[in-house]
Amino acid sequence: MQPLLSPELALLAALLGACIGSFLNVVAWRLPRQESVVRPRSHCPHCGTTLRWFENVPVLSWLLLRGRCRHCGSAIAVRYPAVELLCAGLFVAAAAAPAVVSAAGSSLSGSPAWLVVLAGWLLISLLLPMVLIDLDQLWLPEPLCRWGVVLGLVVSAIAGFSQGDVPGRSLLLWHLLAASAGLLGFEATSAMAQKLLGKPALGLGDAKLAAMLGAWLGLTGLGLTVMLSVFGGALLGVIGLVSGRLKRGQPFPFGPFLAAGGLAVWCAGNSFWLQRFSLWLGWGAL
Ligand SMILES: [Zn+2]
Repeated sequence: MQPLLSPELALLAALLGACIGSFLNVVAWRLPRQESVVRPRSHCPHCGTTLRWFENVPVLSWLLLRGRCRHCGSAIAVRYPAVELLCAGLFVAAAAAPAVVSAAGSSLSGSPAWLVVLAGWLLISLLLPMVLIDLDQLWLPEPLCRWGVVLGLVVSAIAGFSQGDVPGRSLLLWHLLAASAGLLGFEATSAMAQKLLGKPALGLGDAKLAAMLGAWLGLTGLGLTVMLSVFGGALLGVIGLVSGRLKRGQPFPFGPFLAAGGLAVWCAGNSFWLQRFSLWLGWGAL
């Protein structure tokens, strides 16, 4: 089988991903605190010392410094190198996506590979800080959602143009429809759950994130994303209850499941998941 990516390209994607991941760590820390994401330069949150370049190399610095600040010795959370590694892995997966989706199908199938790769990297860079902030604070930052919808629609318009869209069945229109369906569907579910349970079950941020994923993935992709995230959330909820790490009725963020589902659909393509679901549900191969 032909490898999806040459080793050189995979390494380049991983290095870029690790650097972007390092920046996204800063975004996830500063955005909720309404600090600028560019200034001041990275500093130790404990002693405030500005970090030199060699203290700020993704993953490596953390390993070399054994997870401690060089100046005050306080611990640096393992989350920082973990996010950098995760981002590196996701960037490699997104760089392999064009080869996968051209064979497996998605609404971006007919678009040039560079567009699919760049769009994937942009989507990851939007979703990762949203997930981190949702895990920390149980809310999704409004500006990232809003920009996420706009950028998703811009990417869809460019992708549609590159595929020689004809008016009337344009990709942009379908993705706009998917964004609205995501927003309204989640808001309706949330309102219904509120009536039945007497308390909010889904945050409004989840509806905005669903709208954003609709803008990027289209209707089929959004449907698959929601199915994946509901399965994932239910599975982890049960594991959490059984293992006692989650108390009954304790809220846990749904955003990370939506984001993970969305990225899985983006990288593997719609047909891959359609086939998996039909096998799992016992419908046989489509
Ligand atoms: Zn320090």
